[in-house]
Amino acid sequence: MEAELIVRMLEKMEIIDVNQMIEEFESTTKDAGRVQIETLKKILEENGSAEYLKNLGLNGSTDPESFKACVPLVTHEDLEPYIHRIADGDTSPILTGKAITTISLSSGTTQGKPKFVPFNDELMETTMQIYRTSFAFRNREFPVGNGKALQFIYSSKQFKTKGGLNAGTATTNVYRNSQFKEGMKGIQSQCCSPDEVIFGPDFHQSLYCHLLCGLIFREEIQLVFSTFAHSLVHSFRTFELVWEELCADIREGILSSRITVPSIRTAMSKILKPDPELADLIHKKCSGLSNWYGLIPELFPNAKYIYGIMTGSMEPYLKKLRHYAGDIPLMSGDYGSSEGWIGANVNPKLPPELATFAVLPNIGYFEFIPLRESVEDQVLVIEPKPVGLTEVKVGEEYEIIVTNVAGLYRYRLGDVVKIMGFHNSTPELKFVCRRNLMLTINIDKNTENDLQVAVEEAAKVLAEEKLEVVDFTSHVDLSTDPGHYVIFWEINGEVQFHEEALQECCNCLDQSFLDAGYISSRKVNAIGPLELRVLQKGTFQKILDHYLGLGAAVSQFKTPRCVSLANNTVLQILCVNVAKNYYSTAFR
Ligand code: AMP
Repeated sequence: MEAELIVRMLEKMEIIDVNQMIEEFESTTKDAGRVQIETLKKILEENGSAEYLKNLGLNGSTDPESFKACVPLVTHEDLEPYIHRIADGDTSPILTGKAITTISLSSGTTQGKPKFVPFNDELMETTMQIYRTSFAFRNREFPVGNGKALQFIYSSKQFKTKGGLNAGTATTNVYRNSQFKEGMKGIQSQCCSPDEVIFGPDFHQSLYCHLLCGLIFREEIQLVFSTFAHSLVHSFRTFELVWEELCADIREGILSSRITVPSIRTAMSKILKPDPELADLIHKKCSGLSNWYGLIPELFPNAKYIYGIMTGSMEPYLKKLRHYAGDIPLMSGDYGSSEGWIGANVNPKLPPELATFAVLPNIGYFEFIPLRESVEDQVLVIEPKPVGLTEVKVGEEYEIIVTNVAGLYRYRLGDVVKIMGFHNSTPELKFVCRRNLMLTINIDKNTENDLQVAVEEAAKVLAEEKLEVVDFTSHVDLSTDPGHYVIFWEINGEVQFHEEALQECCNCLDQSFLDAGYISSRKVNAIGPLELRVLQKGTFQKILDHYLGLGAAVSQFKTPRCVSLANNTVLQILCVNVAKNYYSTAFR
């Protein structure tokens, strides 16, 4: 009895003190300006010996003014030669004082090709800090009990760079880090699946086993998680296809022959035991659902919430996720990138559409380039000077510049954020979109956000037919004269039964780009009629598989929302899988 008590006490001690965490956050954010100066000082002191900083003539200065005067704003391209030297095995202090031993591969789904980014223990520590911060706020509102988390997390292909450094996606580097497991215990989010499943070489097999583990531990599951909402929806769409097989495995206690990886089979055999009662129960619950509405609470009766990034390009998956979630709240995750974390969601009660991120002033040094539309209209575009974290204005949009603890200085992340308010003296941001324009032919400018809004509008027409857009992307087709926008859609129905509605969707898409440049160009036919190409079922799965083959991880996958000619393989996959195309008859 005593031993049991001690074990329980030890278990308790590992869990972070939520109130203390919140207090720490409150105190850091009350003094955000000063904390920023200190954070920059610390970064520059630790990395002052790095060749990159030395060459810029900082001469040991660590104040923001000298920093901004000496260090230029850079893009990933500018840093590539340095990062490649590191990856090739040069261990001299290049970007950081201490040599970098791990490289992260960004998902590359927004840019077309994965980028190499330095990763180190300091970056890992900031990752855990942001996890702990948002957990503290989440747990205050929606406390989870002792139990497990169903986490759809995966490792990417891991490899060694030419110089022998470990390389994988940032999430993989995080999951592999020794701090990860302890950290997850601290925030009561231990994954219900064994490591062999998380680190398995085949994503499809790992997903199947995550689902199976979730069902076996169904009573214990406290929350359902994936880094991005896309993966959550994908997982439950897969469940719809394999649920009977999962039930059969549970009934017999024998793992499906679709799992061929020996390490996964061995690990799963320790968990999977014949349980006809459980199989019957799940079968009954699934059979009783109407179009899978409320699937997640049926399967996991003690789940308190569903957690993952649901903002930005993940918003289109919310409708389907809500359908599966029934009455379980959706909670949007934090904001960051392979290059480092930026802000935590400290208002978990807000619906994902309204989620904001409070910047943690001690995890990096942040600057913001104001984006004012009026400036762009002038012939000579002079980019405004970046402002500091505490100088941003509510309601304004900015491009965010990051200086992190892993060798990136004044780095343009390429994201646009909007300031929604302040938490003490640190801004609360909303993610708007990637900065690079996506759809443009002449004077028109449409971002991924504009595309998202247009697709949402047109999807309403489809909803009247009880159909959904499974996923979408776009392309600027300049092979026609004039050029025109092409929108690719995968829908969950048969094209031939919905021809009229799809033509209407096509017109609606064309009319839903509200950018003045687009509308005026369309009116004078300087841009041709928008084309809607409806894809065969499973096309986006093929695209996902393509990226996985390149070393991406499902954990970080974001469907590319615009595919250029440079991204030839993906464009080919799209083009050979078109079931039917439609041209807009609007603007006639
Ligand atoms: P990656 O480098 O592959 O990890 O992707 C990072 C990018 O994902 C960021 O630069 C953003 O564009 C996007 N992203 C990350 N977190 C969020 C979020 N909370 N909301 C919207 N987009 C996000």
